[in-house]
Amino acid sequence: MAPVLLTPIGTELAIKWADGTEDFIPLETLRRACPCASCAGEKDALGQVHKPTPRPYGPAAFSLVSSALVGGYGFQPRWGDGHGTGIFSWDYLRHLAARGQ
Ligand SMILES: [Zn+2]
Repeated sequence: MAPVLLTPIGTELAIKWADGTEDFIPLETLRRACPCASCAGEKDALGQVHKPTPRPYGPAAFSLVSSALVGGYGFQPRWGDGHGTGIFSWDYLRHLAARGQ
């Protein structure tokens, strides 16, 4: 299910889903959960995930500069420190919202 509204409010991302429910995910939570390969690691041929060494986040890392919808299945935020390769699917956003409650 896709959101009907997706907008940053203050330090949170506000999501309104097609069924009328709303979720609020702190931008910091979102950034720390970035699913891209350089943040979340990549699986090798044996299915083991190699986590990269965590890098320190500066304050700009948690400010959302812009975001783009990706092919109707997710969105791709661009962060204040220039990072912007993570794509968050709607299911993943739901998962993150549920986890934070
Ligand atoms: Zn990332």
